[in-house]
Amino acid sequence: MSRRSLLLAGGGVTVSAAGLLGGVRPALADPADREVPGTPAAAWARLYAGNRRFVVGRARHPRQGPADLRRLATGQHPFCIGLTCADSRVPPELVFDQGLGDIFDNRVAGNIVDDLLLGSIEFAVGEFHSPLIVVLGHERCGAIVATVDAIRTGRDASGHIGEIVEGLRPVVEPLLDQPGDVVDNAVSANVRAQVARLTGSSDIIAGRVASGGLRVIGARYDLDEGQVTVVD
Ligand SMILES: [Zn+2]
Repeated sequence: MSRRSLLLAGGGVTVSAAGLLGGVRPALADPADREVPGTPAAAWARLYAGNRRFVVGRARHPRQGPADLRRLATGQHPFCIGLTCADSRVPPELVFDQGLGDIFDNRVAGNIVDDLLLGSIEFAVGEFHSPLIVVLGHERCGAIVATVDAIRTGRDASGHIGEIVEGLRPVVEPLLDQPGDVVDNAVSANVRAQVARLTGSSDIIAGRVASGGLRVIGARYDLDEGQVTVVD
């Protein structure tokens, strides 16, 4: 019996071969997952539960089958707007165990908000009324490592990578002489800075937050364990 089969068997869940081969697992679907979360708390609970499944190897890969594709072909209602790093190890749908149409992704190295990304996020807030924005940084982020290196060596980053370094410089520079690991400290500090930028630079986002219809949560991803934790 494979490790996956053992995990599934351990949970008392049976899965048909057809379900596994087709990528659709109706036997694993939680009826509660069929409702689109309408509040910030419900949206975060959905993501948190998905991350727990991912961490313990019980991801369901929900809403990724042909029926979901057809259901979403003419419209989307993502319950979450993501601002996440472009890092290939941190795809939001996988680490939160979500599916098609769930997360309106905005991904860029270093998860930095610039005007283009702010426009993209404001569009989603206005168009879909998603109740949650998640800013997700991650351990050992290469964009932050590159920024620390550029500042310490005084060498310019090549090409347009310099734009990312300049975006992260105000976050990283004050941490260079602080105790602890500068990259790790900067990962959390950057999440806080981008959360503040989202609410501080956008009347659309700030207005929805003030009305209680939207919450912005900062979090970070552990590359070793797969766990997402809130950054306060
Ligand atoms: Zn990164």
